[in-house]
Formats: sequence, structure tokens, C-alpha cells
Amino acid sequence: MPAGPAPQVDARVDVLIVGQGLAGSCLGWALEERGLSFHLVDPGPAAGPASSRLAAGLVTPLTGPRLTVNWRLEQLVPVADAFYRRTEAGLGATFWRSLEIVRLLLDPGLRAIWDKRSRQAAAARVSRVLPGPLVNPEGAAAPHGALVMPGWQLDCPGWLEASRRRWQQAGRLTEAMVDPADLDLRDDGAAWRGHRATTVVWCTGAALQAAPWFSAVTCRHQVGDVLLLEPMPALGDRVINGGAWLLADRDATGQPVVRAGATYFETARGVPSPPEARAQLLARLARLGLELSAVRQQQRAVRPVIAGMKVVSGPVPGVPRLAWLNGFGSKGVLKAPHFARNLAAHLDSRQRAAIDPDAVLPEHGW
Ligand SMILES: Cc1cc2nc3c(=O)[nH]c(=O)nc-3n(C[C@H](O)[C@H](O)[C@H](O)COP(=O)(O)OP(=O)(O)OC[C@H]3O[C@@H](n4cnc5c(N)ncnc54)[C@H](O)[C@@H]3O)c2cc1C
Repeated sequence: MPAGPAPQVDARVDVLIVGQGLAGSCLGWALEERGLSFHLVDPGPAAGPASSRLAAGLVTPLTGPRLTVNWRLEQLVPVADAFYRRTEAGLGATFWRSLEIVRLLLDPGLRAIWDKRSRQAAAARVSRVLPGPLVNPEGAAAPHGALVMPGWQLDCPGWLEASRRRWQQAGRLTEAMVDPADLDLRDDGAAWRGHRATTVVWCTGAALQAAPWFSAVTCRHQVGDVLLLEPMPALGDRVINGGAWLLADRDATGQPVVRAGATYFETARGVPSPPEARAQLLARLARLGLELSAVRQQQRAVRPVIAGMKVVSGPVPGVPRLAWLNGFGSKGVLKAPHFARNLAAHLDSRQRAAIDPDAVLPEHGW
């Protein structure tokens, strides 16, 4: 394990965060903004592909086959926007950008769904329709028109890495896996390898059930694949989406690349091999009508999904000093800032804010 800065062995922190994906990182920033002390533990990028480290980072207002308006969109977007901008100021670099999303209406059924959906005020507010038949400048086919909407993107790997370095330099991050058996959770405080904390927050994504406290939670984790393609100059600075999406982006070394995604396979229902998943994804991308460039790489990770697509947050029932933040599914970039800030306000003894009721798992959920 790479050596980190000297650990704060003698200090008792307010919060020990286990896992530095989007959930743990957003919580770290939210605690920092409140002036609460924390220490993070995560094995780092060498441990393998965490969901957050390969997420495309997109926030799309209308999603899915029924063009559904994203859950709590109008509340969550301004929170996320302000949050990531504040973290950028702290990091001295840009990771969050707005971009245009073009959703191709590839068949008359989808056009009919939109015609109905557009009567919904929230949907009409976020999108305008381009008439069809339409072939846009990039050559993508949209025989029944296309929706144009504002979207956002977080450079997830870049933001996580910059946050990790910042906290490592401040002696606030240890590179390690936490074995639940090594955690000492008592009514008067928690400890792990000499680190003492008032509360431990478990932010381990799809690895949730490797810990004993969550065996009764029903998980519906989803494997997701993305492809990295050679640059496609015609794509421009926008997302083309039609059941699968293409996005001009940069890879981990800063080189131009096109990200293409994504697959959704519930782990419990059997997951195709990577070559099968890639063939399925390429077939969906072919429907966009663009000439695809060569595939450089395929990446795969597991999205943490709790039954009912629920975000879960707050104290873990029956376990002293333990809380959790999980269930971000395919929408971590949009949801994590709000729920992390809410949890930080709950953990702040000066405020003790109530946990957002949408993130409290009902008793029958255990
Ligand atoms: C292909 C794909 C594309 C995606 N695209 C998007 C997108 O465009 N927009 C979007 O909003 N979301 C997207 N997502 C979803 C997004 O990645 C998740 O919502 C989010 O990253 C979940 O974050 P998390 O922190 O809960 O989990 P994770 O990212 O899994 O992080 C958990 C962390 O905990 C660490 N950990 C686990 N166990 C331990 C332990 N015992 N001790 C210490 N550390 C531990 C892991 O190493 C990891 O770093 C995508 C996901 C996939 C797979």
C-alpha cells in the first residue's frame, strides 16, 4: 500500500468516511464547508474500477425510454451546480461544465411520448424540440425530430483524483481497505486503527454488502460498460443521445477521446461477458446514424442500486456510531451533493438537521 502523509492517530475527528467515490468525496467537501473534521479511508485507484472513477459524469434532464424528467431535477441541479463550483474554487481547477444534450427521436413511438410529455410543465421548461425529419450537422439521424436540452458534466475521475490529492496532502486520507471487523463501534465513539471518530459513515458503493450490517438490504446493483473511442471531430461539444450516447471528452491523460455508453445489467439477473456487452452497445450506437470511430478501450464497473432506486442516508439502525450514504445508482453526480450536504448538516451537533425523508429507508426495507 502506498505510504500517505502521517495519519492523525491521536486526533478524534467528527467523521471517519469509508470510501472516496462520489458519495464519500461529496461528504468530505460538505463537512469541510461546515468546518467539521474528518478522515477518509479508501484504497485508491489501484484497487480497481470504482463506479465513480469511470462515470461519464453526465446530468441529463430527461432520461430513459419514456423521457422522464429526472427526479427532483429543479431542486438538485442548482445545489449540484453551486457545490461543484465551490469545490473547483478549493481545487483551483475546472471539472464541471455545462453542455448541450441532443436526444434523437428515432421512432414515432418516442415522438408520441414526447408530444404527451411536453404538456408537463417541468419537461417543457427543460427542452425544446427541433422538427423532424432532421439530420443535424454531425450527420446523426433524427427522423422524428430531436430534443435539445441543457446538460452538465462532471469530470468524475479528474475531480476525485484532485480531491484525493488535496486530502492526502492535508493528512486527511489513508489509502487502505477497511475491514469491518477492525472497526470498533461503541455508544461513546468509534475507532479504526488508532483513528477515533464521533461517527463512521460507510460510503462503499456496490461493496455495501461486504459489511455485515446491511445483509437485509435488497440491492439491485447494475453493471455498466462504457467504450472509449478514437476522437470524432464532427461530434462537437455536445452529447448525442438516442438510447445510447456519445460524448467528446478527455481520457485520464488529458487526450481527446469519445465516451460512448452505457449498458445496464442488473447483477442478480446475469451479466453478459464484456465482448457481448460491447456488441450490444455498438448495435445501439449504430442507430444514432453517425460513423463510429475505432474502439480504444472498454471499461466496466458496478453502479450501487438499492431496491426502489432509493438513496439511503443517515444513521444505520441498531449500530452505534455508524451512518451510511449510498444508492446513487446512475445519478450520483446530480444527487450526491444534496444528500451529502444534508447528512453533514445532520452530523453537525450545532444543527442536527433531519435526514431528507426520501433517503430514510422504511423499516420494511431492511
Ligand atoms: C458505466 C457507468 C457510467 C456512469 N455514468 C454516470 C453518469 O453519466 N452520471 C452519473 O451521475 N452517474 C453515472 N454513473 C453512476 C455513478 O458512477 C454512481 O452513481 C456513483 O459513482 C456512485 O458513487 P459511490 O461513491 O456511491 O460508489 P463508488 O464509486 O463505487 O465508490 C465507493 C468507494 O468505496 C471504496 N471502498 C469500497 N469498500 C471499501 C472498504 N471496505 N474500505 C475502504 N474503501 C472502500 C471503493 O474503492 C470506492 O472508491 C455511471 C456508472 C457506470 C458504471
